[in-house]
Amino acid sequence: MPREFSFCPRCGAGLGRLAIHGLDRLVCPDCAFVFWQNPAVGVAVILLDDAGRVLLGRRSRGALRGEWCIPCGYVEYDEDVRDAARREFREETGIEVELGEVFAVHSNFHNPAMHTVGIWFRGTPTAGAQGPRAADDLDRVEFFGLDAVPDAIAFPTDRIVLADLRRDARPGRGETPDRPGAARRGRGR
Ligand SMILES: [Zn+2]
Repeated sequence: MPREFSFCPRCGAGLGRLAIHGLDRLVCPDCAFVFWQNPAVGVAVILLDDAGRVLLGRRSRGALRGEWCIPCGYVEYDEDVRDAARREFREETGIEVELGEVFAVHSNFHNPAMHTVGIWFRGTPTAGAQGPRAADDLDRVEFFGLDAVPDAIAFPTDRIVLADLRRDARPGRGETPDRPGAARRGRGR
């Protein structure tokens, strides 16, 4: 169930319910505002070091405090999705990145009150990037081997992404040019 809202954010009247295209919507009887309750967009950046370890951050606040995630955040209303990914990563880890390909896109349903669509970009540090330092929503950032990530991963979809990264890193699926699987990597690598 989405969060309940009682009042119209535009005019302040009490919201009612109305079926639109077969779905029950919160609608304002005074100004006809429809509260669509679409999912928000989240962005995350996957940064691997030279040893193939992934940078994870430990969350410092909220219900998932103490659990680890791929550094991430929300896209602001007037912000380009890639700008948001670079900004969130810089705010949380202190590292400036260039974005590569989209590695994954998933719907996040773990929080019934706030559904999101997550986009995971690959990133590489820009020249002169500083080492990681946790800030904002994180109190620790650390590189982990893909086979040695913490048990306490905050988001179910991060688990999927980490498993997919692990699968991609396996011999025969990786970048070793004399292996048959190398061609699978494709664009931008
Ligand atoms: Zn209204």
